[in-house]
Amino acid sequence: MNWREEHTQCLHRKKDGTRCQLDTAPGDFACRHHTIAVNDFIEDPMAVIAKFRQYFPKNHHPACDRKGQNDCDCPDRTFGELAGLAYQRAARTSLQRTRLHRAMVREEMRYRTDLIRRYYNSIDESHLWLGMPNPKWRQIRYFVWNDEEERMIVKKHDRSIRNKTQLLKLLRREAPHHVYYTTSQFRNPAEVGPDPFSKSGRDKYIKKNAKRLARKEGKTKDKKRIKELMYPVSQWSDYGNAFIEQEMYFDVDYEMETFQESAQETLRLAEFYETINHNGCDKDVHYVFSGGKGFHMVDFGYSVRKSHGDKYSDRIARTIAFEKEKSGLFKGAAFAAMDMSRRYKKRLIKRIRKQGILLDYEVTVDPRRIIRLPGTIHGKRGRVCRIIDKNDLHNFDPGPTLW
Ligand SMILES: [Zn+2]
Ligand SMILES: [Zn+2]
Repeated sequence: MNWREEHTQCLHRKKDGTRCQLDTAPGDFACRHHTIAVNDFIEDPMAVIAKFRQYFPKNHHPACDRKGQNDCDCPDRTFGELAGLAYQRAARTSLQRTRLHRAMVREEMRYRTDLIRRYYNSIDESHLWLGMPNPKWRQIRYFVWNDEEERMIVKKHDRSIRNKTQLLKLLRREAPHHVYYTTSQFRNPAEVGPDPFSKSGRDKYIKKNAKRLARKEGKTKDKKRIKELMYPVSQWSDYGNAFIEQEMYFDVDYEMETFQESAQETLRLAEFYETINHNGCDKDVHYVFSGGKGFHMVDFGYSVRKSHGDKYSDRIARTIAFEKEKSGLFKGAAFAAMDMSRRYKKRLIKRIRKQGILLDYEVTVDPRRIIRLPGTIHGKRGRVCRIIDKNDLHNFDPGPTLW
């Protein structure tokens, strides 16, 4: 038996570096989803173009937020565009499947990891930043290059980071390519994971919760016990990742070509934001250069509690009652606060979109988003993410890169 007959797992590597788990047809290298390389294109171009069209049928507007769903009014790609792009992707896919390409990626990543580690060894705590409210209630999530698996791995710090000494230690040990913090504060930040009340998160959360309970009983590997501990969300009285608060975050990193463009957009946003008044909240606006192409604008003064003023408790109670009515579940005050924060921000984003200001709207609205931590390296561009002055935006100089 030769290799081609014996080896039946699809050879495609997904974007995160993991292998496709599907089997291939006899004599083939890739499963039916991944016959998208140059040899497939030569064999049956129409089939490859059709597969491309299934996922990428439209030329989306930069601010379109239905790029995954494609159920928007953005214009369809012409057949010529589809054919050209499908061929481009085929060429890239074939290249990525070569041993040489993988070796080059590995070398590049080792080199970058080394430079990142050197950088963190060269600085002291004064170069770091933990200026957001209550760092102890945030989860720190970071990406490290894993040489054995040849891919980036997402890790979270198992406790919260309380000071810069802990942070610097983590950065020197892990040499992460990207470091983020949760835009929301949570009661138990280390446990924050999938949202138990979302469709996709529920099963994941039930499983995770069962594993956690089994671990408490010292039965980490006991599959039967884990199964027993899986019970539906409706029976939970409490869960680990209760929401406390989320300030106001804007990510103007949105497919802008140059620093100047995103700087201009950030200034437009800043100007508009000045006209906004969150009842009872004093503004505390910071500007951040992401280290990539864009900027963040953050208002640490916004608070969902303050913005609802005296009506806060009433509205919390009303939201809980409404949710109970709607779903039969008692979701608690933490959920109600999260929901109120989300709805408030949705309304604000609607007004910002009306102004035609381009930004990643979901970052502002979604309570489970993460944002890059100033003082850390942007692992693609090799620049330090940092707090800047608003005036710097008028003539922005991104500074040197590590590579
Ligand atoms: Zn596959
Ligand atoms: Zn669209």
